[in-house]
Amino acid sequence: MDFNLSGQDQSIADAVRSFRDSRGYAGLSPIRDPKDPRVSENMRELGRLGLLGVCLPKEFGGQDLPGLSGVLIIEQLAQFCPRTATSALMSIGGPGLFVAKWGTADQKERYLPALMRGESSFCISLTEPNAGTALTDLETSARKVGDKVILNGRKTLCTGVDDTNHILTFCRFGPGVDDIGAVIVDSNAAGLTLSEPREHMCGAQWFELTFDDVEVLERDVLFFGNAFKLLMASYSLERASSGAWVVGVAQAALDLALQYSLDRKQFGRPICEFEMVQGHLADMYLKLEQARLLLYKSTFVKNGVADQLESSSAKIAATEAACYVTDRAIQIFGGIGASRQLPLEWLYRLVRPFTIAGGTSDIHRSMIAGSLLGRRFNHRA
Ligand SMILES: Cc1cc2nc3c(=O)[nH]c(=O)nc-3n(C[C@H](O)[C@H](O)[C@H](O)COP(=O)(O)OP(=O)(O)OC[C@H]3O[C@@H](n4cnc5c(N)ncnc54)[C@H](O)[C@@H]3O)c2cc1C
Repeated sequence: MDFNLSGQDQSIADAVRSFRDSRGYAGLSPIRDPKDPRVSENMRELGRLGLLGVCLPKEFGGQDLPGLSGVLIIEQLAQFCPRTATSALMSIGGPGLFVAKWGTADQKERYLPALMRGESSFCISLTEPNAGTALTDLETSARKVGDKVILNGRKTLCTGVDDTNHILTFCRFGPGVDDIGAVIVDSNAAGLTLSEPREHMCGAQWFELTFDDVEVLERDVLFFGNAFKLLMASYSLERASSGAWVVGVAQAALDLALQYSLDRKQFGRPICEFEMVQGHLADMYLKLEQARLLLYKSTFVKNGVADQLESSSAKIAATEAACYVTDRAIQIFGGIGASRQLPLEWLYRLVRPFTIAGGTSDIHRSMIAGSLLGRRFNHRA
């Protein structure tokens, strides 16, 4: 087993470093606002460098590289500009992958090239007021009428919809689990209403969506049914991408903590000379490195399908390590670390919601146990 990056992945990592240097990022970027225009500029530049389509098909302008390449890009971007990395994540490891994997030739032609150029984006809408972890309870209905599908229902916690062009919307064409499908909705579609924006603790905005007889052309239906099983099978790169993002953000916190422990003196000595500070630093490194290994391993798919056990394990390891590392970084900085003068508390707020988004750590633990035991647990009463 070779634990070194391949030549190709090494060049991809080099390309992200050149991007960082050419955009003048010496340390952590000051961009905090997701709507900062520099994020769109960065995205167009990443698109020009071909870094947004690394995991998408060659015939539409991508590079068809394995998931690991995408994960490396997101992780490295997140170390110096978490906001740009969030947008890149949506192109590299987001809902566009569903279009690439399951879409018709027409859908790929219409959506993928602009996505890879950083000129358009997708968000995903699954969660509903009464269907969070119990996603198969979703109620948003899809009715086929002629060559159209009519959507009615309510979604919640949909993130980034205001900045996005297309919403991959999960809906039901009938009463059963196998009737859950997915359609591509234009974010300006008639009959679609967005609530006032609300804010996650990480600063991203989320919205409630109301679908009131929203018409979608049949050519924009991704699945008329069976979307749930396919979603679970294809979501692993999305999970690995979010995992890479939080690991990158946490690495930035570890780097800041290492430097501070060398610079800050108490009792006449740099605080890195105190064993408990050394213990924090060592544990931060260990947890991040363990998470990274699981994350990279989870990107290797067999016969086109990722392993549920590995995907859930990587998701938990990455998100929980990132919470631990950013929390310990605040500790090492002492009082100033807990203040808004420095970015540490922001880094913590960035990663904390990700033990919930993309499936909570609790449900992933249940899936891990199910895989280990060779059983599927029925969570219903
Ligand atoms: C930052 C962020 C961004 C998000 N972005 C999006 C988005 O863009 N699109 C979208 O559709 N959704 C999005 N979500 C929603 C996210 O997918 C849901 O919050 C998540 O699936 C949990 O659902 P819930 O909030 O309804 O919690 P609930 O399902 O109500 O869970 C509440 C608690 O009960 C526990 N629980 C529930 N069932 C079980 C079980 N069977 N076993 C053990 N514990 C259980 C959960 O782990 C949790 O602790 C986002 C969430 C966050 C935090």
